[in-house]
Amino acid sequence: MITDPITSNGSGLPPSDGSDSAVAQRPGLSIGNKERKPPVDHKRIERAVREILIAVGEDPDREGLLETPARVARMYAEVFSGLHKDPRIHLKRVFSESYDEIVLLKDIEFQSMCEHHLLPFHGRAHVGYLPDGKVVGLSKMARIVDEIARRPQVQERMTEAVANMMEQELGARGVVVMVEASHSCMTMRGIRKSGSMCLTSAVRGVFRDNLSSRAEILSLIMSPKHS
Ligand SMILES: [Zn+2]
Repeated sequence: MITDPITSNGSGLPPSDGSDSAVAQRPGLSIGNKERKPPVDHKRIERAVREILIAVGEDPDREGLLETPARVARMYAEVFSGLHKDPRIHLKRVFSESYDEIVLLKDIEFQSMCEHHLLPFHGRAHVGYLPDGKVVGLSKMARIVDEIARRPQVQERMTEAVANMMEQELGARGVVVMVEASHSCMTMRGIRKSGSMCLTSAVRGVFRDNLSSRAEILSLIMSPKHS
């Protein structure tokens, strides 16, 4: 039960070889791309939303819907704001520390948008690492999760992206990222299973290679919170 979610990355994807080139090339995750992207085109979203309303048989000119296209445009600009950010910058400011035990930030709440249905998924991420002389502020770890979440996403890729970034930018000896989320595309459409949670994990470095290190960080992640 404890080792299951971690030995499999839960994604159906092959284990990463430590390079995230395949991930970085996918649309919506062009991390490190220094090209300035165009700002969000609100007017274009508004036209598209109006079209959708007509297509489903609504009257976009009735009172309740008049402001909807503009509202949706502002919402998309917000929920996809991560597309215009490079989360790596949060890992550029590190502190030299001789601390060589696990650092774990649990229960990082996030909101994201499933790229298959453009419906929200949300939940919590747990990010842990074993430093190799460099530590980063805890709030930065939360920012990375937040910015990676705020783009059209799939949970598996998001989990791997956070782990790859922590490993590469921080030079951590090991990284574990676990994400648990509820997907609206599961609960409000299709199979309509409310309450189901999707769990994904990505394991790097010493936590992949060393069973006792892995067991240690897993028990920390799984341990109940103090209230
Ligand atoms: Zn979906």
